Amino acid sequence: MSSVRRITHLIGHSAWEGTAERTGDVYNPATGQVTGRVDFASSELVDEIVAAAAVAAERWGRESLAKRTQVLFAFRQLLNDNKERIAALITAEHGKVTSDAIGEVTRGLEVAEFACGIPHLLKGGYSENVSTGVDAYSILQPLGVVGVISPFNFPAMVPMWFVPIAVACGNAVVIKPSEKDPSVVNAVAELWREAGLPDGVMNVVHGDKEAVDALLDNGTVKAISFVGSTPIAKYVYERGTANGKRVQALGGAKNHMLVLPDADLDLAADAAVNAGFGSAGERCMAISVLLAVESIADELVVKITERMATLTTGDGTTGCDMGPIVTGQARDRIVGYIEQGAAAGAELVVDGRDGEFHGEPGGFFVGPTLFDRVSPDMSIYTDEIFGPVLSVVRVGSYDEGLALINSSPYGNGTAIFTNDGGAARRFQNEVQVGMIGINVPIPVPMAYYSFGGWKASLFGDSHAHGIEGVHFFTRTKAVTQRWLDPSHGGLNLGFPQNT
Ligand code: NAD
Repeated sequence: MSSVRRITHLIGHSAWEGTAERTGDVYNPATGQVTGRVDFASSELVDEIVAAAAVAAERWGRESLAKRTQVLFAFRQLLNDNKERIAALITAEHGKVTSDAIGEVTRGLEVAEFACGIPHLLKGGYSENVSTGVDAYSILQPLGVVGVISPFNFPAMVPMWFVPIAVACGNAVVIKPSEKDPSVVNAVAELWREAGLPDGVMNVVHGDKEAVDALLDNGTVKAISFVGSTPIAKYVYERGTANGKRVQALGGAKNHMLVLPDADLDLAADAAVNAGFGSAGERCMAISVLLAVESIADELVVKITERMATLTTGDGTTGCDMGPIVTGQARDRIVGYIEQGAAAGAELVVDGRDGEFHGEPGGFFVGPTLFDRVSPDMSIYTDEIFGPVLSVVRVGSYDEGLALINSSPYGNGTAIFTNDGGAARRFQNEVQVGMIGINVPIPVPMAYYSFGGWKASLFGDSHAHGIEGVHFFTRTKAVTQRWLDPSHGGLNLGFPQNT
């Protein structure tokens, strides 16, 4: 008999002891069974947790860089030691296959490693003698309490884009993970406790819109890092900034991969399959549109189809290539798009609804799906499906492909496959997208660069992690100092000029 676990809020190091008025079901997507029940926070509870975080932020923001760095190094080690355990939790609630889940934790770990360098990252500038006897310097200070609101598709990595840097900068964090796979953030919070992070610096509040709105409206929360779908990102950005907060809200995507005739078509086919169907297409950097120049389109579609025939879909713990979809509702939505694509006249080359699935009958499965001859007016082209559906659009030339990418409302990621350096260089210059791959299909930047799209894929000015992350979680002061001596006397009402 399966048991249903309770998942609740963490107020600092302590689990909340109240009784929730509202809860949400958490599923194992591979079986379709409810395995957990997560408490949803009321707005009053969010305010209580933020107030506790504010007390912790006061102290933590004054801790020495040496102390903060010790905690970060310890956390990094614990996360590395617990990689497999965290990955198993991801697979149990998200569904992605074990190797992919381990990859996710590893990419999150890289941000923790970046944050270990915080003493260097927080160095301001210093200019001696900017005017006679005057020095100028800048200092970076924490904001106080910051909020993080994360999506279901990377329950470990996306929170890690923000939390280690926010903490390293001296802030306290209140994080609201996705209600669909909430256990991972609780497990990682436990690692922060073991690493020696003081009580109250890391807090977890679970819930839905009510909890999000409470974070957006609470005046003590100085900044919000949000990742999720575009409509919610826009909403979060508008409400948060209207309340005077600093907000970075990363939204949805529709990523195109352009394949030119001179590309290595075997490598391009491998890349299209990996980037289209990895994590069942539930990645904001997934490739969902393949722009194939007409002269090589037939050959490329054959190569992709051959590769797709080798893929297995099933329970993520059993060595399959692709796991289930996160919920039954999300699976039904994807199936609806496959129906719409077929009805609109796209050529359904591989139909994921027909697949054989290595899992329990109740699992939320849909197999890899390939459409050819898709046109830009079809919903499978315009909408973010967020599932294993790859659409091939045939284009006449590089220019036609580029124009399609640039007319998309989204601008998260894109890739070009070519052996022509000049074409690749032109592409990186002309394409209006935040993250670009040249013969790399999922160009997720390293932790020391910053992650973020353009247009409807990001609301706000700052991208995630890297130096932009450090600036997002700090405020700068510029100090001008003079140690007085008698030569500085005298009255002068003019604007200070440097001499
Ligand atoms: P989502 O927008 O449904 O949820 C994201 C967060 O917002 C969750 O914590 C959720 O509880 C909360 N939320 C949901 N509805 C809300 C509402 N009405 N008001 C306030 N808060 C609300 O997104 P998801 O389905 O969890 O994640 C998938 C989406 O995230 C995709 O669109 C994907 O492209 C996007 N994503 C983007 C990036 C990026 O870096 N740009 C990264 C990962 C995921």
